[in-house]
Amino acid sequence: MVKLSEWRGKELFRKYGVPLPRGRVARTPEEAEAAIQSGAVPLPCVVKAQVLAGGRGKGGAVRFANTADEARSATSAILGLEFKGERVREVLLEEKLPIGKELYLSFTLDRGLRLPILISSAQGGVEIESVDDAAIDRQPVDPFPGLTSYEKRRAAKHLGVSGPVRASLDRLLDGLWKLFVAEDAELVEINPLAIVGDGLVALDAKVIIEDDAAFRHPEYAEIRDDRTPLEEIAREKEIAFVQLDGNIGVIANGAGLTMATLDVLKEFGGRPGVFLDLGGTDDPKKVTEAFLLMAQAHPKAVFLNIFGGVTKCDTVAKGLVEAMGQVPTAERFPLVARIRGNNEKEGIEILQKAGITSIPTLRESAQAAVAAAGGP
Ligand code: ADP
Ligand code: MG
Repeated sequence: MVKLSEWRGKELFRKYGVPLPRGRVARTPEEAEAAIQSGAVPLPCVVKAQVLAGGRGKGGAVRFANTADEARSATSAILGLEFKGERVREVLLEEKLPIGKELYLSFTLDRGLRLPILISSAQGGVEIESVDDAAIDRQPVDPFPGLTSYEKRRAAKHLGVSGPVRASLDRLLDGLWKLFVAEDAELVEINPLAIVGDGLVALDAKVIIEDDAAFRHPEYAEIRDDRTPLEEIAREKEIAFVQLDGNIGVIANGAGLTMATLDVLKEFGGRPGVFLDLGGTDDPKKVTEAFLLMAQAHPKAVFLNIFGGVTKCDTVAKGLVEAMGQVPTAERFPLVARIRGNNEKEGIEILQKAGITSIPTLRESAQAAVAAAGGP
């Protein structure tokens, strides 16, 4: 997922004519002071941590400054922060605008409708999750005609804007829609979208570029996203590997079975800590690699849930046993297996020789995995 930081999102906003406060990025307190002294950022100003997590306003990562000196010390304080686990390496300094009202606006994809939707709310600024559902308007947008005056009119009505603000909204929506389509975004969000005087200004920007379109955007290649070091290694080896915050490792094949396995563990009080989707692989070398990566995440127990289709049970089992042998004794963990499907008998035998019993039902095997990890 290519999640852009606020300032990168705002660069896109600028390209598509979405109105913004004047601002500049700084990586040191000196750069912050210079941005003000050069007039690039007027006073009073806002200093905002450039991290991917939201909730900066509430979390002390957005500060106001009235003088160049204050901007400098706010920058130095924010650059020293670790915000929700992320080191702050840059701040965005922006003119502080007199906000009339804070609105919410976004385009995203609705998987249920299989269409883009325009979401608007007159209650912006706060976390949109906590806004009453009735206060949020969701409109599907047919991608073929694209955004039409109908959706714009309904959004304006819902947001309660008219006159020049309404005209500003129309232009902004056109720009934002263009951005959403042309930049292959899966989310463009403005929260808050501020009414300032008789126009609108985007005070925040959240843009996520669709992963499958990443190849069309070499400009983002160098952006590090929120992958863990192990996830980064997995990505290079083209292994689907995700770390969560529990203690049970899950190895399954296919996204559907993998997700179902996580659900079942949860149902029995287990906490999945890392999961690995072997997909259609049954190359023992690849299975070994994947397993060793799993071992590095130090799960308390591993639940192996394989359905042999294209992937053969015996080859997966062979790779696993081989990999298990390569894990240092001190770092081994109990392995609970359920292996069914193509070449099931051979697979079970290979596991058995290595001292691993395959439990045939999903419930029982999941319960055994939860128990192996120390219980719910
Ligand atoms: P986050 O969503 O991470 O909390 P925001 O960029 O939305 O961060 O900023 C939080 C709040 O700070 C906004 O709701 C707004 O009230 C205020 N704010 C942000 N930028 C500006 C600005 N340029 N001028 C005035 N107020 C701002
Ligand atoms: Mg915000």
